[in-house]
Amino acid sequence: MKIHKISWFDDFKCMGGDCPQTCCRGWLIPLDEDDLERFKCEKGLLGIRLLAATGAYTRTRMNSGSGECTFHTREGLCCLQLKKGHDFIPWACRSFPRFYRNYGYFEERYLDLSCFAAARLFIENIRDLSLVEDEDEEPATRPCTTNDDKKYLDALLKIRRDFLMFREDGSSGSCWARLPAIYSYSCGLQDTYAKGGDHRDLPPFHDHMASINGEYHLFPMKVHVLREFVDTAIYNFGVKKSGPKLLELLNEALSLTGRYLSDPAGFTAAARSLLDTNEKLLPLLNSYMSYYLYQYFLSAYETYSFRRITALGIIHTNMILLLAMTYSEKKQRLTDDDLALIISLYNRKAFFNETIEDKMYLIFSEVYSHSMV
Ligand code: SF4
Repeated sequence: MKIHKISWFDDFKCMGGDCPQTCCRGWLIPLDEDDLERFKCEKGLLGIRLLAATGAYTRTRMNSGSGECTFHTREGLCCLQLKKGHDFIPWACRSFPRFYRNYGYFEERYLDLSCFAAARLFIENIRDLSLVEDEDEEPATRPCTTNDDKKYLDALLKIRRDFLMFREDGSSGSCWARLPAIYSYSCGLQDTYAKGGDHRDLPPFHDHMASINGEYHLFPMKVHVLREFVDTAIYNFGVKKSGPKLLELLNEALSLTGRYLSDPAGFTAAARSLLDTNEKLLPLLNSYMSYYLYQYFLSAYETYSFRRITALGIIHTNMILLLAMTYSEKKQRLTDDDLALIISLYNRKAFFNETIEDKMYLIFSEVYSHSMV
């Protein structure tokens, strides 16, 4: 099968005990049948610990409380791996942060930015988000879709290419205009497909983008809306255990947005001033949105939910901006490590929880749907 992978996919190296954001904390770890079969053969003390961690092999997950994994050592390493080797640990841990999507005709491979080292690589490569092709490799995963309509998949690839075309231009004007253009085009796509048409019934994205003008409300989004995003399930007691650093940042984000509630223009000015003083931030946010589209836009192959998919990308891009603003209250110039930490902390919590994304999308739809379509 053809493999399309982000060009720096093979550069990933886990930082192990030096990672400021270990992935052995804050996750439910899904287990597959092979994992459970391997664990069942284990005897002695380790066998007993595995028995306990998997509810006597009845659960298809470990670390249900999403606190610290019971096999995480004080030195920040995995004792399953230390004792039994890399092939013994659950597939989810073995493959993390590699992100695979097999669309039946090809497989795409990315590094998930919820890993600190992957987020660092992303920042080092924000100007190089190209995919490279490998021929005839075995896919790493089973197909993620039941759809086999090749023409539709090709159309989605073309639309994604069009959306990504504006990435190179890091100028603020194009960034302000790009998000409303992508969202409104996605609304058009969803309505068109729902009526039995297809993308050819719409003008090319380039023309649509050129027609977007006037006030751009989607970047940065309105301060009261950003505050509502923070006040979802992402900000709850559980975060204290699974991501204490994120909780601290969210607390500060609530206080920052609270201060600007009566001064929305002041908030927009503060966001723009941060982008001016940290010249890497705008291209980074532009690329963050592009990377999101790479990873998730093709899920429309299964769901046809163009509107929701692109809205969530816009929400997440704005949340990274808000958290960067929050962080910069303590430290004016943000380093690459600061930004990698913000991205990995946020992505880890927001991207793997449907309750959080559902609520954020609901808030977004109530405010923006009518004005943007
Ligand atoms: S978050 Fe990434 S770099 Fe850190 S321990 Fe996990 S895989 Fe390694």
